[in-house]
Amino acid sequence: MTELDLIIKNGKVVTASDTYVADVGVRDGKIDTIATNLSPEADTKVIDAKGKYVFPGGIDVHVHLQLPFSGTISADDFENGTKAAACGGVTTLIDFAIQAKGHSIMDAVEARRAEADPNVCVDYGLHAAITDWNEKTQAEIKQVIDYGIPTFKMFMIYKNEGWMADDGMLFSALEETAKHGGHIGVHAESVDVLDMLIERYAKEKEKWGAYGHTLSRPDYTEEEAILRALKWAEVTGGQLYIVHMSTGAGADAVHAAKEHGVNVYAETCPQYLLLDDEVFKGENGHLYATCPQVKKPHDSERLWKGLLNGDVQIVATDTCTFDTKQKAAWNGDFRKIPFGMPGVETMVPLMYTEGVGKRGFTVNHLVSLVSTNPAKLFGMYPKKGTIAIGSDADIVVFDPEKKITLKAENLQTNCDWSPFEGWKLVGYPAVTISKGEIVAEDGKFVGKVGHGEFLKRAPYGKL
Ligand SMILES: [Zn+2]
Repeated sequence: MTELDLIIKNGKVVTASDTYVADVGVRDGKIDTIATNLSPEADTKVIDAKGKYVFPGGIDVHVHLQLPFSGTISADDFENGTKAAACGGVTTLIDFAIQAKGHSIMDAVEARRAEADPNVCVDYGLHAAITDWNEKTQAEIKQVIDYGIPTFKMFMIYKNEGWMADDGMLFSALEETAKHGGHIGVHAESVDVLDMLIERYAKEKEKWGAYGHTLSRPDYTEEEAILRALKWAEVTGGQLYIVHMSTGAGADAVHAAKEHGVNVYAETCPQYLLLDDEVFKGENGHLYATCPQVKKPHDSERLWKGLLNGDVQIVATDTCTFDTKQKAAWNGDFRKIPFGMPGVETMVPLMYTEGVGKRGFTVNHLVSLVSTNPAKLFGMYPKKGTIAIGSDADIVVFDPEKKITLKAENLQTNCDWSPFEGWKLVGYPAVTISKGEIVAEDGKFVGKVGHGEFLKRAPYGKL
């Protein structure tokens, strides 16, 4: 038996179902042994994890690195965004390849891989965003799934950006992906009512300021689009995934549809759980603009309940970093704010403090929300998403006692502000390991650029 490369000693190993004290032995980037009293040999590195948790690495299935959007490019590129992920205990992320109209999906995938592959510091995958539905696109679906991209995204808004999928496209894509084990993630908002309301509030944009962003997007615009997408999933038998769900009414709709047998899953993000739309009234309210935007406290409470009762199965971040200079382009017009915020770096510690620390979630439930469920639904399990022999050694040694005050200046992200500036956290990643290599320690990146790889994922992901 050749020696182990790394032993994580005496930590509390946490999976979605179990918690137990053990040593975890790593060899050649994989988990090789789980036992008590593993002994190191001459070249074995040892991490003392006594009193700490040993979590499977976080998986953020919703990230937009270096995304051209709103006349600028999101400020965390593939290199820095994956460094930030590592610092925050995330060892896998999924970004998007957005089809350009008149082009194939694979063109977008290849272009995105050329940007990402040499620069990523942890493993990543891609969803394919479908913007142009025709016979060629339809024929391409199976090819894209066979290539290792079984999950697609469609935007029910963004008409002017050329990204929007109308109901016919959504219906057709649900039908086609269902044949080959794919699923459709939707950005669900009602485009026509939204556009009408935006223009209505824009008439008095000086009066409303950044708060106009929230006035023009009431919760029913998300609810209605979710209900519509659920109907198309129901009648086609397609698998639907609601991305960045921000409303309580959305959670109710998903709950009812699931009872009814509709094949649907839902994701929410820390900002929808932890912030509300009062933030838009502040002096720098425009910084908080995302799409969809954060809603009301009752929405947050319903989403927390959804995480507990299974209406919402996944927490991801919709990371799309814009710094204060980029955000300043709004110049008083809420329609011109680049929508998005940093997030991948703070997801795991925020969900630990707020979910486990304040709301009594078990650590196992936390792991299911930020690692195991994403791995299963997105075709990466058990390579990712658990601590088991043969799985990739993507591991977070998490210190539940560590107290930290979040400050943008201490984070790896290129963002110069944080939506959670000044928040006090109890619990933070101490060491992040990606495929057996230590990539971050105490919130600082210590890994190698290019260490990450593109992940080919399997179809028929389910929970
Ligand atoms: Zn997004």
